[in-house]
Amino acid sequence: MAHSRAFLDQLASEHQSPDTLYIGCADSRVIPELLTTSAPGELFVVRNVANLVPPADHAHSSVGAALEYAIQALHVSHIVVCGHYGCGGVKAMIEGVAPSMPELKSWLSEATLANAAARERTADSEEQWRDAVEENVLDQLANLPSYPCVRDRLAAKTLTLHGWVYDLKGGLHVYDHDAGVFREPSST
Ligand SMILES: [Zn+2]
Repeated sequence: MAHSRAFLDQLASEHQSPDTLYIGCADSRVIPELLTTSAPGELFVVRNVANLVPPADHAHSSVGAALEYAIQALHVSHIVVCGHYGCGGVKAMIEGVAPSMPELKSWLSEATLANAAARERTADSEEQWRDAVEENVLDQLANLPSYPCVRDRLAAKTLTLHGWVYDLKGGLHVYDHDAGVFREPSST
């Protein structure tokens, strides 16, 4: 991605004012600016393994810190939680984490999926893995209102939450709240 010197100078001379907080997976293939065709300055980005939003007051506060800053200092109007099919983090929730990775095990234990439904699944099934990826995104959306700053902005109707899953083979799938399914935007 190349930008002119003048554009970069302009960005440096202004405060950032992104409209969207993007929370996505650390997977090297899922690049938020590429899949949303966003320019520098447009997305405030948090990426971690399996795009988790631990509930407020949990031990892992990095996401909460970014949430508070994005909402209270940057006044974003949208929060996107974006998972992706083929997510190794979600697979690890289903299959378990090797003892040699205690930090990863601790991190994934924040996920509802890792503690409940995953026990009934197997990542050998492509369909169940895809379902788990989608369910994990919905779990994170459900955790967002545990943060008072999110709750307040939702009550004021000045914040919109979005659930996405990126398909490396076929683009974005967006959660349709009315239909209760993830689908390609063009098919709605
Ligand atoms: Zn992932």
